[in-house]
Amino acid sequence: MLEFNEISTAERHTLFIEVVLPLSISKTYTYRVPYELNNAIAVGKRVVVQFGKSKLYTAIIYKISDVPPQLYEAKYILDILDEQPIVTSLQLKLWEWMAEYYLCNIGEVMQAALPAALKLASETRIILNQSNIDKSALSDKEFLIVDALEIKSELRVSDISKLLGQKTVFPILKGLFDKGIVNILEEITQKYKPRIKSFIKLNEDYLASENLKALFEILNRAPKQQDALLAYIKLRKERAEISKSDLLEHSGCGDSALKALLDKQIFLIYNKELSRLFSEDDEELQEFELSKEQQDAFSQIEGHFNSRKVVLLHGITSSGKTQVYVRLMEKVLATGKQVLYLLPEIALTTQIIERLRKYFGSKVGVYHSKFNDNERAEVWKKVLNGDYDIILGARSSIFLPFQSLGLIIVDEEHETSFKQFDPAPRYHARDTAIYLSGIFDARVLLGSATPSLESYYNTKIGKYGLVELTERYGGVKVPEIKIVSITEETKGKTMQSHFTSVLIDQIKSAFSRKEQVILFQNRRGYTPFILCSTCGFSPKCINCDVSLTYHKTTGKLHCHYCGYRNEVLHECPACGSAHIEQKGFGTEKIEDELKLIFPEIKVSRMDLDSTRSRNSFQQLIDDFEDKKIDVMVGTQMVAKGLDFSNVSTIGIISADSMLNYPDFRAYERSFQLLSQVAGRAGRRDKQGEVIIQAYDIKNRVLHQVVNHDYNALFTSEIIERKNFNYPPFYRLIQLDVKHKNIVRLESIVKNLAAILEKQFGERILGPETPLVGRVRNYYIKTILIKVEKEGVSINKIKTALSSILRAFEPDTNNKGIVIQIDVDPY
Ligand code: ADP
Ligand code: ZN
Ligand code: ZN
Repeated sequence: MLEFNEISTAERHTLFIEVVLPLSISKTYTYRVPYELNNAIAVGKRVVVQFGKSKLYTAIIYKISDVPPQLYEAKYILDILDEQPIVTSLQLKLWEWMAEYYLCNIGEVMQAALPAALKLASETRIILNQSNIDKSALSDKEFLIVDALEIKSELRVSDISKLLGQKTVFPILKGLFDKGIVNILEEITQKYKPRIKSFIKLNEDYLASENLKALFEILNRAPKQQDALLAYIKLRKERAEISKSDLLEHSGCGDSALKALLDKQIFLIYNKELSRLFSEDDEELQEFELSKEQQDAFSQIEGHFNSRKVVLLHGITSSGKTQVYVRLMEKVLATGKQVLYLLPEIALTTQIIERLRKYFGSKVGVYHSKFNDNERAEVWKKVLNGDYDIILGARSSIFLPFQSLGLIIVDEEHETSFKQFDPAPRYHARDTAIYLSGIFDARVLLGSATPSLESYYNTKIGKYGLVELTERYGGVKVPEIKIVSITEETKGKTMQSHFTSVLIDQIKSAFSRKEQVILFQNRRGYTPFILCSTCGFSPKCINCDVSLTYHKTTGKLHCHYCGYRNEVLHECPACGSAHIEQKGFGTEKIEDELKLIFPEIKVSRMDLDSTRSRNSFQQLIDDFEDKKIDVMVGTQMVAKGLDFSNVSTIGIISADSMLNYPDFRAYERSFQLLSQVAGRAGRRDKQGEVIIQAYDIKNRVLHQVVNHDYNALFTSEIIERKNFNYPPFYRLIQLDVKHKNIVRLESIVKNLAAILEKQFGERILGPETPLVGRVRNYYIKTILIKVEKEGVSINKIKTALSSILRAFEPDTNNKGIVIQIDVDPY
């Protein structure tokens, strides 16, 4: 609280603040500031306000003025939470732009941007963080809250408010947060499964050197065990802890020798939780030199940056793009500026984090969705304090409160996961990053082995600079890719379940050389649908228009859209027949059948189902790296930037479904996915082998993949895009119109399309029923707006569209309608 005499009478005028509320409302709201808080007001600080009848929210101060609102009487703000702003004015500028560009509300942007721990609301649920709290250090009110949480384990902010008999409790809760005593209960509580690694240590009895000598003699008749002991002693000199896999690798002693030593209790095994994403020990910073080609690329990028904001680095897999990034980052850091390094969520593995920490030490901060909310709030505060020079993060890290960005790297820029589908803002992190760079006058480097058509096109028209790396680092050869006809092998009866004889032979020979294999099948579950062969009945989801997928691991039928589950059918509910067939195959089935064909091979699966818990994805990667797994079967997850030295063979189980997907980007996507998967093979010293199984072996995209010919893909696709008015020549805005009643939907959407056509003419396409015409009980129709790039202002179109929708949605004739706008749909 301010002393009275600090407020001069001149300052005793009434201030009003416009705030952003974390809600999907189209406006900002104005509140009145009590005099005594006048001096504490600043843009970007959080205030507590009441909105609606009784709900309290954390809002962000957006503008300050002394003009009261015209249409309503401003309520007082209840409190200010921050000493210093937690959102910068540059961030607010970004929020404004996103709301305008993606046709959403600024409150929705705030929702996406701020970690929940920074935006308490009445509804927020609070839990205790630790069990043994020093209660003597708590204030009376804090004590009451902690006490209540020990009994009830979870309380809403509004409950706490009742408990203390006071309206605003946010500042008290903020204090408890800052002390780490309470946490936010997250909507989807992630099952925490810690990453475990096994370590080996020598029994203390043998530590004394004379005992060790004696031990060596005892082991004279077991040379392998001696090897293990020797390797242990050597490794012990270099590091504090020795993992089981390191010991096996360095000694070459084999599992049985190690087991014998463990049985005799000469070695002891212990498991350790790797709870942190990276180790805290100061690693020695690593030196490296760029190759000639990398050096050239580096100079060209710098050259382009003199005249252009954005450069695309088109470098084949394993060409060493990361090394080039590192050199650029060093240069930017030397000027005192920050770097944002964006990666698709899935590629954010310890591999890349550790690699960067080798070069930059603890200056690297990491931000992604597997972090819980409090961890995210912590990173937010550190970025605000300028504690990190580099932020390595997924999509949402564009929202962090940067101080002085100099460079944004968007690695794997073609990745569709940079686009947020749901909820609004439906933003693309790459495109948003380019706007963000403008705010800071920073540069953007896009990197990919298979660039998006849009970005590559932008280099062709001179908007972006283009730099290419065409060789793998260290002269490693690109993998050899073969297409194998499933049709032929089926005719010749040489298929073994879903595997061609060619693929089977490759797997065998890789296994005999102790090399690892990755198999790619872009469908999860066991069988994607079930069919009664008597009457043709096929079980569907009760909430969505899709077939249910059989999952062997749960023994149930699953809907991949809403999560609905049902029991497996043994007889047809329509005709009673027992002839139930399973059609198609997903990763579970591939895994299963492979185990039948090769019982001696260790097979694991990497897909959405096997990686749901917090660390299971990383654990699978660790196990694969430690060679505890011979074959990894997976969906596109296996394609994302994993770098394994021992993978020599890749199999694509079936390329056709991807190619035939009804989307104008299907060929581009297939090329990217197949090339990226293929790029996992033979990454260090050996040439890899890739087998693509397909029915349609003549498809041009497959041959473009085989020839590593991105240019051919680009040339053929860009013509199609031009002919059919698609990006990059046209901009797209997609409206998803939803209603629970199909008849109502059809008539409402027809009206909407007519209104839109009147305004935008032939730019309107549809309404059409999408591939899945009902999800979670909402029927869906889509309307597509195609806007030419020349001769018309996209901003005017967007403004006109918003005003049409603003009038349309609340109309009582259109009750129950939900309209979602997706600008630049992916
Ligand atoms: P990309 O990101 O282009 O697929 P990477 O950056 O992962 O390629 O490089 C592939 C491999 O080559 C990595 O193991 C990396 O450490 C190594 N490498 C690349 N450039 C160099 C260099 N200049 N010095 C040492 N190792 C390098
Ligand atoms: Zn039937
Ligand atoms: Zn469903």
